[in-house]
Amino acid sequence: VIDGEAGVAHFAANIGWKDLDLREQIQTVLDVPVAVSHDAAAAAMAEATLGVAVGVRDFLFLAIGTGIGGSLVLDGAPYVGAHGLAGELGHVPIDPRGELCGCGERGCLETVASAASISRRYEARRPRQSAASQPTASEVLQRAELGDPDAAAVRDDAVAALASALTTLQRMLDVELVVIGGGLSAAASALLGPLEVAMEARARFGPPPRLEVSLLGSEAGCLGAAVTAWRLLDSLGASATPV
Ligand SMILES: [Zn+2]
Repeated sequence: VIDGEAGVAHFAANIGWKDLDLREQIQTVLDVPVAVSHDAAAAAMAEATLGVAVGVRDFLFLAIGTGIGGSLVLDGAPYVGAHGLAGELGHVPIDPRGELCGCGERGCLETVASAASISRRYEARRPRQSAASQPTASEVLQRAELGDPDAAAVRDDAVAALASALTTLQRMLDVELVVIGGGLSAAASALLGPLEVAMEARARFGPPPRLEVSLLGSEAGCLGAAVTAWRLLDSLGASATPV
């Protein structure tokens, strides 16, 4: 949870940050202006400036990796909500009796549809017979396409959960586009077809959002950080051109 305006990282579960004044600390060391942003928000900004969402006013960037992060752009500007939490689709409840999530709730979207969950759920159905490493989510999706019934069941659960969460988003905000990025983006085309079919089947009140795979892939967050820094320089009236 980031407050970009204040430059404070309020909460980062995976690296243990709590109310860390990130901007102050980095500025002290580097002695240059510093912009602070959430990784998914930076990636959304990159897709809006250089990627697949150029010219789109309303979209969700969904980063599917170890977890599922999300960032909303509404009316052409990032929308973070009252507490910086808007767009966190990974923690939308899908099944109240589902698996325990890292956030402490039960049955969040990311317990079924993150890359880590796809890999883990496949392993639970098909334990390894040897010392081979656990199949990645990309490998599970490939196996599903090749007819492995356990892989297909895990993929179908992920698709159903994503379709449910994205349909809720659509009923609330009617976005034009959903960009799938994050660690799974290279293999996301294997999710996109089934997800489009599932979204279409639920589209009772008009068209579902278009679904696109991130154009910038794993570079999106870094490029978004550069775009965010560039905008900060613009707002400060600096004449320097970022490298
Ligand atoms: Zn959760």
